[in-house]
Amino acid sequence: MSIDPPVVSSVPLELIIAAPKVLLHDHLDGGLRPQTVLDLAAESGYADLPATDAESLGRWFSEAAYSGSLERYLETFKHTVGVTQSVSALERVARECAEDLAVDGVVYAEVRFAPELHVEKGLNEREIIEAVLSGFASGIKAVAAGGREIRIGVLLTAMRTAANARSIAELAVEYRDRGVVGFDIAGAEAGFPPTRHLDAFEYLRRENAHFTIHAGEAFGLPSIWEAIQWCGADRLGHGVRIMDDISVAPDGTVTLGKLAAYVRDRRIPLELCPTSNVQTGAAESIASHPIGLLRTLGFRVTVNTDNRLMSGTSMSREMDLLSQAFGWGLKDMEWLTINAMKSAFVGFDERLEIINTQIKPGYAQIRAELENRRLNHN
Ligand SMILES: [Zn+2]
Repeated sequence: MSIDPPVVSSVPLELIIAAPKVLLHDHLDGGLRPQTVLDLAAESGYADLPATDAESLGRWFSEAAYSGSLERYLETFKHTVGVTQSVSALERVARECAEDLAVDGVVYAEVRFAPELHVEKGLNEREIIEAVLSGFASGIKAVAAGGREIRIGVLLTAMRTAANARSIAELAVEYRDRGVVGFDIAGAEAGFPPTRHLDAFEYLRRENAHFTIHAGEAFGLPSIWEAIQWCGADRLGHGVRIMDDISVAPDGTVTLGKLAAYVRDRRIPLELCPTSNVQTGAAESIASHPIGLLRTLGFRVTVNTDNRLMSGTSMSREMDLLSQAFGWGLKDMEWLTINAMKSAFVGFDERLEIINTQIKPGYAQIRAELENRRLNHN
């Protein structure tokens, strides 16, 4: 794993931040502010944190995520989950998530969490879901008071190593008119194929509900194939290993296998998370991340953060890294953003409305600003 040498980005970071962005793959327990982790630990008597100030704690999270050790990486979630076992902690974390995403220029986000991870101190799953929804509602309100607009849809995640998927899927359907827009399964991929939870996916399809599946991150094509052809996933969480079904000859000729062609031709969205993919070894570096080739080949690619705290990242940072690695400009960022919005789980009318009233005018404005700066500079 390596950080790539910087190439000059064609879009200044502050304009990337100002541009509207859409985020489909972000974990609530992976996006806490370091200071919030400290505050919540103090409030709840959680004594296991590895640092006592926000700066070193933030650094510890990112070092653990870059360590290449799965044990250390999993320990990061032990802490964020450990300090979010009360209604007030969940509300605060959701509120701050809405605020942080809005400040970063995100106009629509789907944030996921696993209710079953927050029951350690006696909360039940409905209390947990309601606390998160209420936190998002107050975050959205605070953001609006500051003159910004963000919409957030919740995805309920079931852990693929557990056996609760069906009951979490039922909760996703129960809460679908109250802010929950879909379902997901996450956790160790190898040895836990998505078909283990087939009854949950069949139930969701009978209920006309949407879901994505973490597949093709740590494990390859069989996981992607099952997620799509057995489970019927609307989107792939990561899906980066679809590259195993794409061959590039020395003369540059690209050949797609049947599964890769199916994913591309059916326009199945890939929730790619560049920094996270580098941290987990799913990609070697940002510059060699398959997102460049997948884009050229016409796959429905989207850019995501996965775990903002562990990856020390944001949507703007991911866009900036890609801009530097591939020379992508505003046109590419707008294309990626519209791709993500088209792939969202909210209704088609709402997706179109956000594209036409926020994304397109937003990019037109940034483009004009960039042009202005160039003229003034010359
Ligand atoms: Zn994820």
